[in-house]
Amino acid sequence: MDTAFMRKTFALIAKGLIEKEQLLQMEPTRYPYSKALQHGINMFLAASQWAGSQAAVEYPDEASFLAHFITRPIEEWFDTWESGAVEQLHLQEEPFYAYDAFAYQKAGNVYVPSSDCYEFLETQDSDIMNGTDERILYEKIITLSQEDYCRVRRYIIEHPIITLEDRRTMSLELADDPMARDAFQFAYEEITEESYRCPQCGWTMMQGKYGYSCHSTHCTDTLPEFTDEMKLDISAGDLYRLKKGIMRYFATPGKLELEIAAFCEKKKLRWALWPQMDRYDVEIRFPDGDIWEIDAKAYRNPIALRTKIQNDGGFPSGDYARGYFVIPSEYTVNQRNYTAIINRVLKDQKNVECVTLKALKTAIAKKEAACNDE
Ligand SMILES: [Zn+2]
Repeated sequence: MDTAFMRKTFALIAKGLIEKEQLLQMEPTRYPYSKALQHGINMFLAASQWAGSQAAVEYPDEASFLAHFITRPIEEWFDTWESGAVEQLHLQEEPFYAYDAFAYQKAGNVYVPSSDCYEFLETQDSDIMNGTDERILYEKIITLSQEDYCRVRRYIIEHPIITLEDRRTMSLELADDPMARDAFQFAYEEITEESYRCPQCGWTMMQGKYGYSCHSTHCTDTLPEFTDEMKLDISAGDLYRLKKGIMRYFATPGKLELEIAAFCEKKKLRWALWPQMDRYDVEIRFPDGDIWEIDAKAYRNPIALRTKIQNDGGFPSGDYARGYFVIPSEYTVNQRNYTAIINRVLKDQKNVECVTLKALKTAIAKKEAACNDE
């Protein structure tokens, strides 16, 4: 038993939950069976046995396993492990350990994967990401011209929900490039459930057995009064939304990217979104010739972001004066040491730093003022 085994266990469980949800959408009347989930569950039960827990006896099948574990924070999954086992495998240092529940119960034995589940999966290697909606879309748009790439990506970020008419218009505009049109169409799915437009992120908020849910559990942290205007009329069957993984993977960090670009525009700086085919998210060119490269990251869990950065080998190399990993400012409200956790692993890259959006704007304004003083 080792740490890598546990890492794989949780990656398979996260992937399996998402697979199950996709299968259920395709065939709503059939119980969705995911090999990845089954594999992950068996691995967790084997590890539990190693750690002296009776979990394998008490929750031997998928239904009882999910009912007991899947709506609990990950830390609690180890409650029945012998003391010392978690420490021996250094599990507290693993990105999965600090996550909240990977799914919530929608009804009976139907579980919906949480934003934590999606976020965790993103930190995992290519193999495990294969076949997810976000990976498929990424592979489609990375082959486009720089111009079409930016166009499709920007559209996705700005339009979490579209009408059939919007879909037709954009498809027509992309008619010259069938690959771009195909990528755009792939990003969306028809809305088939009663839902409201989420006031936080603009995606769909649906009522389940235990309250409302959006793509992120954080959208429901503060819930306003729902008005009829927020209700989506699905009766005509002409509304589409981004697929959930795509909303999480592209649209959430995308809001940061667009906000940085808008700030640079206001400061009359030269900027570019996703330069060099997504090597960076935003590039800023200052009047003195300095180039800053920025990578926007929307991971709430700093250990998950740290793992992702380490897996990627740090900030991409290049000819820039400064490199920044930027996170939404609100992520540090309850985790004041967030950027410190990241910056500890960036020591080898002297000109690279993790900052909040607020701190980045301050740095840009200061640099711009210094350029003007010269
Ligand atoms: Zn939302």
